[in-house]
Amino acid sequence: MVTRSPAACQSDAERIASGETAAWKQALAASFTEVAALLDALGLDGKDLPDLDRTSPLAFRLLVPHAFAALMRPGDPNDPLLRQVLPRVAERAGSDDYINDPVGDAAADRGHGLLQKYAGRALLIATGACAIHCRYCFRRHFPYAAMGSAAVRDASALARIAADPSLSEVILSGGDPLMRDDRSLERLIAELNGIGHLRRLRIHTRLAVVLPNRVTERLCAILSGSRLTPVVVIHANHPNELGPAAEQAVQRLRRAGVTALNQSVLLRAVNDDSTTLRQLSERLFQCGALPYYLHQLDPVAGAAHFQVTDACATELIASLREQLPGYLVPQLVREVPGAGSKRPIF
Ligand SMILES: *Cc1c(COP(=O)(O)O)cnc(C)c1O
Ligand code: SF4
Repeated sequence: MVTRSPAACQSDAERIASGETAAWKQALAASFTEVAALLDALGLDGKDLPDLDRTSPLAFRLLVPHAFAALMRPGDPNDPLLRQVLPRVAERAGSDDYINDPVGDAAADRGHGLLQKYAGRALLIATGACAIHCRYCFRRHFPYAAMGSAAVRDASALARIAADPSLSEVILSGGDPLMRDDRSLERLIAELNGIGHLRRLRIHTRLAVVLPNRVTERLCAILSGSRLTPVVVIHANHPNELGPAAEQAVQRLRRAGVTALNQSVLLRAVNDDSTTLRQLSERLFQCGALPYYLHQLDPVAGAAHFQVTDACATELIASLREQLPGYLVPQLVREVPGAGSKRPIF
């Protein structure tokens, strides 16, 4: 694992040159990084959490923005948002079935973090940095440090994308692509805009949910300011994650003409009941985002304790189908290494 410090995506010189002191960067810098501080803020005692790991590896340490922590229920050790971010001793339990690269990213790497698995789409690892560390993350062991600098990666990826006319969509992923600042995103999108065979620009981000003030009017203008049709896939797993600020962030995207979708991961004791999933879909729609995928957990080392069985997952989807209009039922999928698409689970 490598350290993914938020600052890694931009040099100090660049920051000073851009003159940006954006509120989101200040909020990011103030994030919780210590387990004890987060528990204090929630009025919790370590004794409430027998499985707590206070010495989780620095490279993937606790990282939680205040805006996200504020949506947790004080005094509740089983809060579904807290569960997603709190390091547990169970993460250290080894299992042959839970590995560092569960989705075959290494085999799909076309060099410098441009992943291509599916027809017409290429995924660019825009940065290794995130605003939050989700304990179930399938890229928690991704070798970001081996990818080289953002400038080298961008140039290499852009050359490959330009040389492949079969591509119509580029997905910016990570890490979280919105951790890059406006100027660097603007430059990257301008380059993509110049590649004639591209039609769509997709951004996969958790920041609209966990750091909603990242979604500024200026960012929205950048995302919708090219000839590429913009799609933003947010990532919320539980309705409580979607407070008023996240709703306003999605609304800003919508007003700018961005299509907003959501993907979730099915997580034990977080969202593995039909009431929570129904409320999530309804809340998403209220915010202006349609449910897209519900992912079965990728078997990444350290996350086995979040696993939900396929039998339970399919029952949950069947139950949602009985309770909701079809457009609010996400597709239950699993990523199978080497497969030509995300694989639906029936
Ligand atoms: C998940 C993924 C995509 C997107 O797949 P969709 O089914 O289009 O959402 C594209 N490229 C890679 C490498 C992916 O992992
Ligand atoms: S799930 Fe997304 S936001 Fe969370 S740690 Fe992984 S890449 Fe970062």
